[in-house]
Amino acid sequence: MMRFSYSRPQTVAQAAASLVADPSAQIIAGGTNLVDLMKYDVTRPGTVIDINGLDLRDIRVDGEGTLQLGALATNADTAYHPEVQSGWPLLSSAMLAAASPQLRNAATNGGNILQRTRCYYFYDPSTPCNKRRPGSGCGALHGVNRIHAILGESANCIAVHPSDMAVALAALDAVVTVEGPAGERQIPFDDFHRLPGDRPDLDNTMERGEIVTAISVPANGFGSHHTYLKLRDRQSYAFALVSVAAAIRLEGETIAELRVALGGVAHKPWRRKDVEAEFIGRPANRPTFEAFAQALMEGATGHGHNDFKLDLAPRAIVRALEQAHAGTPQNQAVKVVF
Ligand SMILES: Cc1cc2nc3c(=O)[nH]c(=O)nc-3n(C[C@H](O)[C@H](O)[C@H](O)COP(=O)(O)OP(=O)(O)OC[C@H]3O[C@@H](n4cnc5c(N)ncnc54)[C@H](O)[C@@H]3O)c2cc1C
Ligand code: SF4
Repeated sequence: MMRFSYSRPQTVAQAAASLVADPSAQIIAGGTNLVDLMKYDVTRPGTVIDINGLDLRDIRVDGEGTLQLGALATNADTAYHPEVQSGWPLLSSAMLAAASPQLRNAATNGGNILQRTRCYYFYDPSTPCNKRRPGSGCGALHGVNRIHAILGESANCIAVHPSDMAVALAALDAVVTVEGPAGERQIPFDDFHRLPGDRPDLDNTMERGEIVTAISVPANGFGSHHTYLKLRDRQSYAFALVSVAAAIRLEGETIAELRVALGGVAHKPWRRKDVEAEFIGRPANRPTFEAFAQALMEGATGHGHNDFKLDLAPRAIVRALEQAHAGTPQNQAVKVVF
């Protein structure tokens, strides 16, 4: 039996102090990932800090038109919120492509972007895993790696980040607010998750004691000409093998702005602003989208079982850009790749 203490702080400062006091302590929000991690013996928190007593459930648009999402607002409340559906439909679409209705009712926004990888070896304590036990090796590198990374990986870890919401947030230039013993700070979404490098045990750039309190999404939510294309083994209740959050702003038939973030291919949502910049001013047509896909896939490598992603990802990018170009709405059911 796993024994742990339970605390339910009433302020963020109390929660941060509890995190610092016990280095093994873990936050619980919706619990849809943490409880599994505890059941599989991936993590053994000495203290479980239940943050559900904190006032972090707000969903609102502020005076500057920025969408403000509380860390404890559920994925369902966020995705179905009328302001989110009308102003940030790409975000809503990505969130509704995730998990199941039951899970989305429990899962929180903070917990979603902080969920751990779904690498099989990470969840099996009898196997080596540098993310779970630093220095033990990577079971996936020469093992069953069908769901693993093709971009930005290291010899220490080839895991991918599993969140759909995070892919849309990356494309929409979101900002994460965290609060800890040193106060509050904002982290641009691009800088929030990390590539594995030689510290695959670290998923993100938060400091010990910090808690996600909010996620802000700028006013430009790409109300039209966007898509979230998610390719997976089943049409529902499955993680992405490859996903694409794409948004285009057109001037006539010319690309005035382009945002593309990929899920299922790297340790963090994969976005290259330098590549996007090169395509501003180009005609919005299939040859341009194919050239963009090739450029975004630069450096991609397979590891055996996941070699199929080297073909699937560029096709998905082209398909997503064609859907975004054609405009919205798009039915999730017709998002096939030919
Ligand atoms: C069967 C299944 C299928 C799924 N399919 C998908 C899918 O297709 N796409 C997808 O995106 N997700 C999917 N998920 C994952 C699901 O979306 C996440 O489990 C959920 O979003 C996590 O949110 P939570 O509030 O339950 O987090 P919790 O389980 O409570 O916490 C997750 C992690 O975040 C930490 N944490 C939580 N909140 C905070 C905070 N505010 N500050 C600091 N740390 C915090 C916890 O300590 C823990 O490490 C699936 C899950 C299951 C079980
Ligand atoms: S890919 Fe990463 S999470 Fe998976 S076994 Fe290797 S080190 Fe662990």
